Amino acid sequence: MKALLLIDIQNGFCPGGNLAVPDGDKVVPVANRLIESGKYDLIVASQDWHPEGHGSFASSHPGKQPFDLHVLSGKPQMMWPDHCVQGTKDAELHPELRVPEIDLILQKGENHHVDSYSAFRDNDQDAITGLSNFFQDQAVDEIDICGLATDYCVKFSALDALEMLPGVKVRFIEDASRGITPEGVTAAIDEMRAKGIGIITSADVIDG
Ligand SMILES: [Zn+2]
Repeated sequence: MKALLLIDIQNGFCPGGNLAVPDGDKVVPVANRLIESGKYDLIVASQDWHPEGHGSFASSHPGKQPFDLHVLSGKPQMMWPDHCVQGTKDAELHPELRVPEIDLILQKGENHHVDSYSAFRDNDQDAITGLSNFFQDQAVDEIDICGLATDYCVKFSALDALEMLPGVKVRFIEDASRGITPEGVTAAIDEMRAKGIGIITSADVIDG
């Protein structure tokens, strides 16, 4: 079974959103072509889904500004602008994404006290979301991952897929993803490649 995992393709991470990734909306038509390609048996989308006043928000820490490095529950934590608050437009999946063809939408980041970049488990690597068990139950042996943002949630999801699902082939789809900074994207791709994740483009999937 081959799965496509779409990470956080939400208004909040697209231009006009609260934590906009440069050109974040450009991933939507590429993701839609992948969804429509017929190459995947299973399509899963993750959705960053924070309660108001989440511990990853700078606004929850007096004196801190967005993108300050601070501490959450005793661990280093990037301070983010308030984003993807449950039930807001910012948290909705991008309106042009082909949501009806997505088999499972998995929400993450609901615990106030820990952030969750990965779709598989929180940043403490403590609470799992159930996604790895779901993929195992579905006998998934190949996972292609893309979305927003390459240097955070996409990278951590890809690395967790590799670590939590031994034997599963994991690939990152570069043109269906965007990152927060160019340096962050380069470092993330280098790290994923070094760990054994395939770096591909949507054309490799669609024409492959
Ligand atoms: Zn978040």
